[in-house]
Amino acid sequence: MPNTTIKSYHRTKIDYIRDSEEITGRAGYVLNIITGCRHRCPYCYARTMVLNGRLQGHRSYPYGFEPTYHPDRVGPIGGKKKFLFLNDMGDVGGEWAWRIFGSSLTVEPEDIADAMREFAGENPKHICLLLTKNPAWFRYGPWPDNVYCGFTATNNRELQERLTEILKHVPADKVWMSLEPWQDDEAPMIPTPVAWITIGGLSGINPTPVSPATMEWLENNRVEIPRFVKANSGWDGIRKEYPDTW
Ligand code: SF4
Repeated sequence: MPNTTIKSYHRTKIDYIRDSEEITGRAGYVLNIITGCRHRCPYCYARTMVLNGRLQGHRSYPYGFEPTYHPDRVGPIGGKKKFLFLNDMGDVGGEWAWRIFGSSLTVEPEDIADAMREFAGENPKHICLLLTKNPAWFRYGPWPDNVYCGFTATNNRELQERLTEILKHVPADKVWMSLEPWQDDEAPMIPTPVAWITIGGLSGINPTPVSPATMEWLENNRVEIPRFVKANSGWDGIRKEYPDTW
């Protein structure tokens, strides 16, 4: 397996990755072993960047935003302990055929799980984040200890359904929730403690903060789970928390 080069992972403006080093000592990077997605969320910044923005025509996206697996990015990464988001430009749990970068062949969702597991196994000192709207995909575990399995939710219905699903496959202390853009009038209702929460509002041309009830929830810190509150939440406090074990 080739040694992964600095060109394969890079700094990011995603604040909970960018700010990791000042809190945990682990520098944060995005890697993108997979790219692309077919969910078509209306708020998707990744899709817009690839199809209409600064990544249009980029050599990493020869198939546009079609789901693509980049096998050359699976390999050991040296240096200090890092915090690596393995799929900020696509949904790792997509239940579709994935094109292999530079090939006419495809691989299946379980092959993507194997690749992520292989990467994590080759990089045991780095924390690896995975994120999906489809937590049923985590059934392709087991997942190494350095992998944190994440799902996104924008309202309480999604949160309850997806939390129930992910806990069938992953222990709660290895689960993180990306509550962004949080669009529920109510604050998040979290029945089971998980490892970590990130929460934010809607970015882009029509930025929208989280609801007043959610602001109040943020203010009063009613849940004993480490939380990173994104600037786009609109909340005027600062909370940049990460799990102690990181
Ligand atoms: S799941 Fe993520 S990558 Fe896919 S369309 Fe939605 S926001 Fe974009």
